Amino acid sequence: MSAQIIDGKNIAKQVRAEIKQSVTQRIAENKRVPGLAVVLIGDNPASQVYVNNKQKACDDVGFLSQSYHLPSNTSQKQLLELIQQLNSDNNIDGILVQLPLPEQIDASIVIENISPNKDVDGFHPQNVGKLMLRMPTLRPCTPYGVMRLLDSTGEVYKGRHAVIVGASNIVGRPMTMELLLAGATVTVCHRFTSNTPELIANADIVIAAAGKPDLVKGDWIKQGATVIDVGINRLENGKLSGDVEFESAKQRAAWITPVPGGVGPMTVAMLMKNTLTACDLHD
Ligand code: NAD
Repeated sequence: MSAQIIDGKNIAKQVRAEIKQSVTQRIAENKRVPGLAVVLIGDNPASQVYVNNKQKACDDVGFLSQSYHLPSNTSQKQLLELIQQLNSDNNIDGILVQLPLPEQIDASIVIENISPNKDVDGFHPQNVGKLMLRMPTLRPCTPYGVMRLLDSTGEVYKGRHAVIVGASNIVGRPMTMELLLAGATVTVCHRFTSNTPELIANADIVIAAAGKPDLVKGDWIKQGATVIDVGINRLENGKLSGDVEFESAKQRAAWITPVPGGVGPMTVAMLMKNTLTACDLHD
């Protein structure tokens, strides 16, 4: 058996087309277009690429996009002042501060100072809490995108066993809440879990998000499972690798995402979706 590929690039394109359609509808109703402000501090090349992708995505769906590129010695006070200004800007629905931040700035303070109504990354404690309490509003983008990929398979995941590898604030933990909300039975593995292979052997759904190339071996995968690889790891030879041994996992899984072209494009698409949601809710 060889798994069917879940084509994240194509599904992200569909999400963006739906958003573009909603923007066209807003314009037809004489409403303003959604606006996203992207704040980048310093010259981290990977961050620069992510920010460029987000701006391109904004142009593609017809959003207003504003970018703020601040020097690496920007103080926390200066950044918080900019956030306050954007919080009260009526043309801006979403504020994204690209992480990681320089060491003089505390990311959790920054996140807490973004208005929860404009927190399109879905990282503010209020939005995380709402997801936990089954009132999802602005949902963390990567897990939200994974749910859309799972939906695209047409499989029923209610009551199935999902194993998540990784428990970070931006992927593993909100992923747990999304899958629980969807009615799955969820197990979370992290760096202190001693029996990850056995847990994965019983998983109908595997979500790999540890940031360790080829951590999840193909022969751990249960026959017919759905495998979602969130990991993006740059190898020494310059190639990108996921957290799952793709070729061998593909022989056992029913559905699998590639890296690149799986979860990655979905994260940006769901950021656009959150920006539209924020605009629809508060305009
Ligand atoms: P992180 O380093 O913040 O968290 C990693 C998690 O994995 C931790 O909870 C840790 O306990 C766990 N872990 C580490 N080693 C483990 C092991 N051997 N067994 C089980 N668990 C282990 O990373 P993150 O920010 O959550 O990112 C994870 C990966 O996902 C990275 O490769 C990152 O680049 C990628 N990522 C991709 C997207 C996307 O859009 N596709 C978005 C966010 C992150």
